[in-house]
Amino acid sequence: MKVEHAVWGTAIPLSDFAMSINGRRITSDDTELATNPATEEPIASFPLASRKQLDLAVEAAKVAFTSWRETDIATRRKALEGLADQIEKNYEAFLTLLTTEQGKPRAGAEWEIGGSIYWLREIAKQSLPEEVVRDDGENRVVTRYTPIGVIGGITPWNFPLLLAVWKIAPALMAGNTMVLKPSPFTPLCTLWFGELAQEVLPPGVLNVVSGGNDLGQWMTEHPDIGKIAFTGSTATGKRVMQSAASNLKRLTLELGGNDPAVVLPDVNPEAIAKDLFWASFQNSSQFCVATKRLYVHEVIYDRVVKALVEYARGVQVDNGLLVESQLGPLQNRMQYEKVCNLLQDSAVEGHHVLLGGAPSDRKGYFVPITLIDNPPDDSRCVVEEAFGPVLPILKYRDVDEVVRRANDTEYGLAASIWSADVEKARDVARRLEAGTVWINQIHVFGPDIAFGGHKQSGMGIENSLHGLSEYCNMQTIMERPLAT
Ligand code: NAD
Repeated sequence: MKVEHAVWGTAIPLSDFAMSINGRRITSDDTELATNPATEEPIASFPLASRKQLDLAVEAAKVAFTSWRETDIATRRKALEGLADQIEKNYEAFLTLLTTEQGKPRAGAEWEIGGSIYWLREIAKQSLPEEVVRDDGENRVVTRYTPIGVIGGITPWNFPLLLAVWKIAPALMAGNTMVLKPSPFTPLCTLWFGELAQEVLPPGVLNVVSGGNDLGQWMTEHPDIGKIAFTGSTATGKRVMQSAASNLKRLTLELGGNDPAVVLPDVNPEAIAKDLFWASFQNSSQFCVATKRLYVHEVIYDRVVKALVEYARGVQVDNGLLVESQLGPLQNRMQYEKVCNLLQDSAVEGHHVLLGGAPSDRKGYFVPITLIDNPPDDSRCVVEEAFGPVLPILKYRDVDEVVRRANDTEYGLAASIWSADVEKARDVARRLEAGTVWINQIHVFGPDIAFGGHKQSGMGIENSLHGLSEYCNMQTIMERPLAT
């Protein structure tokens, strides 16, 4: 596949995207069109893998594993750096392609593509050395980390390349090989990256296949895949877990969230309104860790609401390819209809809408920035993960009450606390049931920072050495001299 070195804002030429299986470019008679969510126009076609093609990809990964597992750290490090270079060489084209298929404006695309390069280079520096846990003259006991085998990676449509890299980098670094499947809504950047990767990796080490949800299901059932690394919704995560039981696959599941932000009464509302806004609306709120419920203390509630509405009015929602655009459309029709349905429910329930509400009839999956004034705790816009630009702002009176309400959800992905008193904020943070709690900041991630959900937001960890270890089996070797 050749993506022209696109200049920002010019359309990507319709082109033929292909899968990468055993180092080769593989197409299929069965194809689907990827759609630009800002215009509803087709961008390019991509192949739908058959079951046989998946088998070929898994077989290629299985064969490649026998030699990749024997490579030393330096070889793997070089490979990951090579992958980073492939993205960097095509940086502008990746930005344009990502915005065209996903919808996010340039700043968001830079965060994702730049992040993908950074993650590859940083994970390349990680390793899990053997640990001598006992050496007492009689017994020597060593714990070591061995690769699992073929990893199946399954990704969603909100951060298609970055979330793929979060899986590829540690999987390969630990000595595994991989079959990766992007979301059918955003397959293009990942397919193209798969092709570029073949220039730096031995055949079969990274195979990229595209297709619908049935392809994901086949992967989770496949007897030669040893682990599934999945990012997506909680409902699908449960299905993945069920079918992975067939051969006791290892699992990392990064799932949905309904993240609370808690604003304590000691903040300056006007100073933090901008941060609170982006905490919720970044990537048009198609962010697993977007603030989805904003709890504000009653003494400053009116000022926070006023400052947020004022800031939100100035934010430009438009086609991400336009330089002035700050927020793009939702990524697909299914999600657009889901969010419209939530908005309709709020209208029927008579919620006080401070800003936004029903979308206009413009082309593209655009939903206006919507702020809802103190809806009841059991309303759908509070309980459900909207995954779209709808934020309920909720009033609270005391800390015990807000902790109880913030924790009153099946999810436990992340949360944030905003306060001038960091110690007090830390006390609240410790009481929240969430995998990550940010204080006076949000959405800070790192290759060295463990990330994972509590409760039904997932299981396992991505990033950090804990994340790397999830791509390994632990092996204990105990030895002592032979009795003479
Ligand atoms: P989704 O669950 O619908 O799809 C995710 C992936 O799973 C896609 O590639 C899809 O084709 C595949 N899939 C669908 N059915 C499958 C099955 N039965 N077996 C195997 N694979 C299957 O999720 P989505 O709509 O693409 O993404 C949005 C969701 O992802 C939101 O809930 C969001 O919170 C979550 N998410 C979580 C994180 C995180 O790190 N926790 C990050 C991003 C998104």
